[in-house]
Amino acid sequence: MEGQMIAPNLKFVKDVIASGGESLKKCFQCATCSVMCSISPDKKPFPRKEMIWAQWGLKERLIKNPDIWLCHECNDCTAYCPRGAKPSNVFAALRSLSIQHYAFPRFMGKAMSDAKYLPFLFALPVIIFLAVLRAIGNLKIPPGEIVFSKFIPIKYVDTIFMPVAGFVLLSFAVGLSRFWRDIKPAPKGNFPKAFFSALIEILTHGRFKKCGVNKIRYYAHLGIFYGFAGLFLATNLVLVYLYVLGVKTPLPISNPVKILANLSALLLFVGITLVVYNRLTNKDASRGTYFDWNLILAIYAVTISGILTEVARLVNIANAAYPLYFIHLVFVFYLIAYLPYSKLAHLLYRTTAMVYEKYSQTM
Ligand code: SF4
Ligand code: SF4
Repeated sequence: MEGQMIAPNLKFVKDVIASGGESLKKCFQCATCSVMCSISPDKKPFPRKEMIWAQWGLKERLIKNPDIWLCHECNDCTAYCPRGAKPSNVFAALRSLSIQHYAFPRFMGKAMSDAKYLPFLFALPVIIFLAVLRAIGNLKIPPGEIVFSKFIPIKYVDTIFMPVAGFVLLSFAVGLSRFWRDIKPAPKGNFPKAFFSALIEILTHGRFKKCGVNKIRYYAHLGIFYGFAGLFLATNLVLVYLYVLGVKTPLPISNPVKILANLSALLLFVGITLVVYNRLTNKDASRGTYFDWNLILAIYAVTISGILTEVARLVNIANAAYPLYFIHLVFVFYLIAYLPYSKLAHLLYRTTAMVYEKYSQTM
């Protein structure tokens, strides 16, 4: 029998521990976790094998392993692990390291997972928006009726966010193509069938429904997912109003697009609050790392600043409405521009892993 050389990467073991997998070394390979996981396939089950790979520091195997993305962090494995090795926390740590590994540019992955870079990440949008306001002579509260386009005209907002969106797409294109290349998909799969099957599973949150000890996670994630989807749709419909139909903003509160946006923000707020409630009260759920809380607080910041901005406009307090709008734009920039490097990047990495899984099966 041929032997296999294993080159442990001790720095990677330390990185996993520092990213939330501190219980990693307690695992004694009993495989209870793989048996309890309702998502794990019969062939090549997880998370037991990843636990030993992580103990051995097999970075290459783990970073490009699509199975770490198939895990939906339901915590069933953690609840039944007899050693308290918390495999769901180790998987969450591996996913954050995978996002860092595939980040383009690479330093942004590091910046989003280390609190010391936070001031710089916020400074960028603050400087950009202040520079625009200064250039157009609007570093003051506009008089009269509150209309945000009098403060920062829509064309300037679009001029900032369009390149940001382009850069986000480029970052994802580079990161995901590297990931896809690394996982080496089976060559004869049926890609369209695999893609649509994964899409339906994502839209219905089919795998979250299989969670045993952590059922609240299904409702929390569903709320966040459809909250974001609704806001994305509403933003694009506003662009249609502006540039195709020539309708001026602000839209009345009874406008269907406005209703969609407000309901979506509410859904997002409820979803993220369920996440926090679950993290703080469920004994099997992780309390969360900096990487987790960075996203949770960014979502709170966007929803709360958006709601307060609208309330301040409706009750006609200009001195509050315009600064709140500025703050809201900064938070929206933070959430969108750094999306490929934050925990939100799981949206596309997990989708890719699910497509890969089905692609390998649809021969
Ligand atoms: S993580 Fe826990 S349940 Fe899984 S193999 Fe290790 S000791 Fe067993
Ligand atoms: S957290 Fe849930 S989905 Fe992930 S490995 Fe454990 S049991 Fe499976």
